[in-house]
Amino acid sequence: MNSTTEKFAAKFQGSGMTSDRTRARMIDALRAKGVKNEQVLKVMADVPRHAFVEEALEARAYELDKALPIGLGQTISTPEIVAIMTELICEHGVPKKVLEIGTGCGYQTAILAKLAKEVYTVERIAPLMDKARRTLRDLRYFNIIFKHADGHFGYADGGPYDAILMTAAATHVPPELKLQLAVGGRMVLPVGLAGQESQKLYVIDRSEEGFVEKIVHDVRFVPLVSGTV
Ligand code: SAH
Repeated sequence: MNSTTEKFAAKFQGSGMTSDRTRARMIDALRAKGVKNEQVLKVMADVPRHAFVEEALEARAYELDKALPIGLGQTISTPEIVAIMTELICEHGVPKKVLEIGTGCGYQTAILAKLAKEVYTVERIAPLMDKARRTLRDLRYFNIIFKHADGHFGYADGGPYDAILMTAAATHVPPELKLQLAVGGRMVLPVGLAGQESQKLYVIDRSEEGFVEKIVHDVRFVPLVSGTV
């Protein structure tokens, strides 16, 4: 191991506020909030969330409802919403192939990659995507395919997907994403205007007969923005 790798290994092991014990407390808190899926709780107990945020914020990485800044005006999704959304896409079994829109720091990506066989993830801000790619590589995830693109259009080449999860709020359900959802698949996404109380979490199931949409939660996400930077 060279010294960079050693430093990285030490960071991931964590200590004090970033230890296994802190993560176990986060899991207890998620259970208390009603998260029940044991597979989801197990992977959230395993993934070192503090490794995805700046060092100065590491000690706060396990606070349940904190959307910490990850740079370039974006935030890491809270543990609570990550658990809720992941539980929703696993409701009828763990999906094999998942599309994520909005990689951000890559924490949700890691959770998905531990559960699914393959994860495709799309991010519009190149420096965020590059950083997430490095973090996930250093954590030894090899089943993630990254794409720097506008997620409104999904990632047609990898589809159809058993599940699609979007971590930024769209003003409408992007039609291309619905087309990339497999029959029997489920899409979970926030819809509504940024910063407004009226953002809603949508769950859309696709069957042979078509799409069934339901609204399950009030949520607050950064907006899904058009184009790439
Ligand atoms: N799951 C991420 C959430 C980051 S915030 C995390 O926990 O870190 C939402 C992310 O969606 C941001 O990184 C933002 O740049 C990205 N995003 C916004 N609009 C997008 C678009 N049209 N296509 C792809 N990514 C987009």
